[in-house]
Amino acid sequence: MTPQDPPKRSGPSKGITCDEAMARMFEFIDNELMPNELLATQYHLMDCDDCTNEHQVRQALKDLVRKACAVSAPHHLRERVVASLEAEYLRYAAPAASQ
Ligand SMILES: [Zn+2]
Repeated sequence: MTPQDPPKRSGPSKGITCDEAMARMFEFIDNELMPNELLATQYHLMDCDDCTNEHQVRQALKDLVRKACAVSAPHHLRERVVASLEAEYLRYAAPAASQ
């Protein structure tokens, strides 16, 4: 018997780099990637904790924005929600921000 598991832990050289995964993240979440790019990104996320975390943060951000928009909030409120989410995200992504 030969095991036929896909080589999940073969390292980043087989697929795409973290930079490429990050660059595709929003398209990945929006399901706008070509099938081969989608697959490569999925494989990368299976191997990479950093990109998985980033994916979860952006997915959560997108869900929040979608919910905020779905309740047809007033335009100024929607802008405030998006702005505060972006500020929150930037604080998360860039902890060295000036205080
Ligand atoms: Zn990565």
